[in-house]
Amino acid sequence: MLTFEHRFASLPEPLWVACQPTPVNHPALIVFNERLAEMLGMQVKPDDATLAQWFSGNQLPPGAEPRALGYAGHQFGNFVPQLGDGRALLLGEVIDQHGVRRDVQLKGSGRTPFSRGGDGRSPLGPVLREYLVSEFMAAMGVPTTRALAAVTSGERVVRQLPEPGAVFTRVTSSHIRVGTFQFAAARRDEQALKALADHVIARHYPEAASAEDPYLALLEAVLARQVVLVARWMSLGFIHGVMNTDNCSIAGETIDYGPCAFMEQFDPQKVYSSIDQGKRYAFDNQPAIAQWNLARFAETLLPLMREEGDTVVEQATEIIRRFEPLFDAEQRRLHADKLGLSPESDHAVSLMEGLENQMHQGRMDMTGTFDALTHYAETSSEQHKKALLALTTQPNQLTVWLDEWQAVQAASQDSQRLADMRRANPVIIPRNHRIQEVIDAAYEGDFGPFHTLLAVVTKPFDDSVDARRLAAPATQSEQVLRTFC
Ligand code: AMP
Ligand code: MG
Ligand code: MG
Repeated sequence: MLTFEHRFASLPEPLWVACQPTPVNHPALIVFNERLAEMLGMQVKPDDATLAQWFSGNQLPPGAEPRALGYAGHQFGNFVPQLGDGRALLLGEVIDQHGVRRDVQLKGSGRTPFSRGGDGRSPLGPVLREYLVSEFMAAMGVPTTRALAAVTSGERVVRQLPEPGAVFTRVTSSHIRVGTFQFAAARRDEQALKALADHVIARHYPEAASAEDPYLALLEAVLARQVVLVARWMSLGFIHGVMNTDNCSIAGETIDYGPCAFMEQFDPQKVYSSIDQGKRYAFDNQPAIAQWNLARFAETLLPLMREEGDTVVEQATEIIRRFEPLFDAEQRRLHADKLGLSPESDHAVSLMEGLENQMHQGRMDMTGTFDALTHYAETSSEQHKKALLALTTQPNQLTVWLDEWQAVQAASQDSQRLADMRRANPVIIPRNHRIQEVIDAAYEGDFGPFHTLLAVVTKPFDDSVDARRLAAPATQSEQVLRTFC
């Protein structure tokens, strides 16, 4: 059993609205994350039929009190004062085995007062994608929402075409977003705003409470977490796809996996999302967008801050400006790991720039490049050098880069460094075409490929036969160039 609490419900409405799930026809369990359930304190696992009832919303688990949360958001730069959970319901909070409060939320469980024109449902494809990608991120140690369960609904959901429906259950350290603050601020509801900020401080940033100005300290702490998060994304070639302020988590976790994708051939301007025509959320724009989102967060906090007028704006601006140097430092550290260099190395920046150029110009697969480089660092064998050079269309240029890298890397090599390098460079990522294969099979009723891919992407450093097979980049005909939410 999960033991639910409802602390968010102590915040004033309309930050939340009570709402029941809409039952589905034939709920059937696809997958249940037993290890995560244990972490949430579930000692006895109910049978599959019960899990399907609970995690479709057909029957509430004991103690759950479903609520849709209100939030606003800048969508592609345009402010929408009311979005909210249009197809999601918070069941409640659970204190996990580490003492951390976590939200448990159904997604695709039917319409809510925030649904606007939407049907409140999720197609099966995006549910499987979110399951795979979020569990991969967790395995990589990237802050993320987790996947607890996925259930097919037995109903059709109409998007471009009718598709099978599903309900996804996600777990996060909270669903509070920059957009939640914007919601209260847009309503000029200072009481709700203050209650929300104090809730967030108590829940996620207790050290801010004793700062001279707790709300300024809150801004600084949220910024620090976003810096780490986006740097981790970039180090894996992850493109979130919809970095709207309503998808920017206050706890600093990856939230709302829609048209996200890992890039294959390295290209700083890469976009996969079908709805991002202006390339606002291209790979290389992600740090600047995170900073922009944080500036919107800062604006909501201004009325709560201590000083009046210009000083407070200046102080908040000064914190927002720290994003760049903090991001550069974090990225340099991650890049040093990816290249097998010491974190203090002066060469990490220029060597990474050089390698990014090689990857871009030589049309190299990003994950494959770092995996091959790691093998080469581990063995120094001709065979692994050849394998790496086979990935580029410009082997001569890459050889020149490799010589420079080796001169630096060999001088500082030790077993710990190689272990760090491997941990920074997964053998496998959930590639778009593999996810698409899984979805196509599931639409034919076969979940075997889903389970196989899930098993390997949640052990991203294992060099198994399955992992090698599923790790290969897409061939020309397999490439998935567009992703949809
Ligand atoms: P997203 O792009 O997934 O971050 O969603 C943006 C907004 O649209 C949020 O308020 C969602 O709750 C809402 N939304 C997305 N899909 C649906 C749907 N099928 N039914 C109702 N609301 C939806
Ligand atoms: Mg969203
Ligand atoms: Mg979404």
